Amino acid sequence: MPLRSDWSARSCSLARGLDVLGDPWGSLVLREIFFGNGRFDAIKERLEVADNVLSKRLGWLLDAGLLAQRPYRDGARTRQEYVLTPKGQDALPVLNAIIIWAEKHLDAPNEVSHMKVIHTDCGRPTTSADTCSHCGTHLTAENTSWHSFKRSDQPVPLAIAPPETRRETALGTEIPA
Ligand SMILES: [Zn+2]
Repeated sequence: MPLRSDWSARSCSLARGLDVLGDPWGSLVLREIFFGNGRFDAIKERLEVADNVLSKRLGWLLDAGLLAQRPYRDGARTRQEYVLTPKGQDALPVLNAIIIWAEKHLDAPNEVSHMKVIHTDCGRPTTSADTCSHCGTHLTAENTSWHSFKRSDQPVPLAIAPPETRRETALGTEIPA
């Protein structure tokens, strides 16, 4: 379900990466999943986005292997929520870098329109996307929180890929320390 002309076979890895991660709505969907907000109606409410726009991004991220579906009970019904895969979880430093770059270089419309990337263990904001700039620890989804001032008073620990999504991609996904 491509969103635009297919860049998946471009000779530049930045272009191929942007083919998956360069869509604003798609990256905001990933933001919601990292915040643990994986249910269609809740994502839709938070993003204030039309059904078809959201459905297309979720389908795209599923096809690209960044998200998986997991059943949950909604009263008498079983519905599907969206969770990260290891491939999706590995997009974290990309999103962190965009947040940190925007905080450094772009104006915010008001005082709650800020977001900080926090190393959970030391509690300090980082100005580096994959290493805590305060204590030097390698940042992963397991030890990173995002503090959206608009969203909450406290940083929110990020969601991680659940174990059942790790079976097919268990090899080659570990980032060397
Ligand atoms: Zn730290």
